[in-house]
Amino acid sequence: MERTLSIIKPDGVGRGLIGEVVKRLEESGFKIIAMKMIHLTQARAEGFYAVHKERPFFNSLTSFMTSGPVVVMALEGENVIEKYRTLMGATNFKDAAEGTIRKAFATDIEKNVVHGSDSPETAAFEIGYFFNSFEIIG
Ligand code: ATP
Ligand code: MG
Repeated sequence: MERTLSIIKPDGVGRGLIGEVVKRLEESGFKIIAMKMIHLTQARAEGFYAVHKERPFFNSLTSFMTSGPVVVMALEGENVIEKYRTLMGATNFKDAAEGTIRKAFATDIEKNVVHGSDSPETAAFEIGYFFNSFEIIG
């Protein structure tokens, strides 16, 4: 069993896509083991995306991620990291496959509706960044 962190980004929450994303997660067989809605501060967004701090899009990305509330979830399932990334689609929605969340809903390379961890190490860091052990129903 593997775990991953999912975020419905401010564009997804603001456009009323929480239910749509959660429906796709459940239909894919992922188990939601933790869930909350939060409004990130600038410092918390910068800490979350610290791996990207040298990237030209870092300031824009962190201000986007603080522009409204987000829904964070921990998901569990077999091979869920890769399966959820497949369900999300490519970072740039223009390259995303049919049937993916980003193909259906993303409007911009930055405003791409969802986040997903990219490795077991990243997933452990990211889940711990938002949830303590009492908040995870696993
Ligand atoms: P995420 O980490 O959010 O799941 P990802 O792993 O597909 O997405 P990353 O390369 O980790 O993509 O980039 C993190 C986020 O930064 C992207 O999801 C997107 O919102 C934003 N981003 C990535 N590349 C660009 C870019 N060239 N211009 C603007 N924003 C970008
Ligand atoms: Mg990433």
